[in-house]
Amino acid sequence: MSFRIYHRCAGCKKKQEFVNSGKFRVNANGNLVDVWLIYRCKKCKHSLNLTVYERTRPQKIPADLFEAFQSNDEETALSYGESVEFLKKNKVEIR
Ligand SMILES: [Zn+2]
Repeated sequence: MSFRIYHRCAGCKKKQEFVNSGKFRVNANGNLVDVWLIYRCKKCKHSLNLTVYERTRPQKIPADLFEAFQSNDEETALSYGESVEFLKKNKVEIR
């Protein structure tokens, strides 16, 4: 199951529920990449990027997973949304 996640929203200036957008953002920085899964405030749609990979060599990321990030694979996005470990690492509140 997917969790409800809560975090302070920079748009609303208070704690709000954030919803998994199903979209990843991949940012190459030299030979390192950052990958985020984007959540959006349920109320104002302000985005919250949850870190999937941080300053990681692309070779260290399994090729099919990297492809899933780049094509915004819905199932992959959902699986991160169901990972307590991933959500805890990003210090969001889970309910
Ligand atoms: Zn908001």
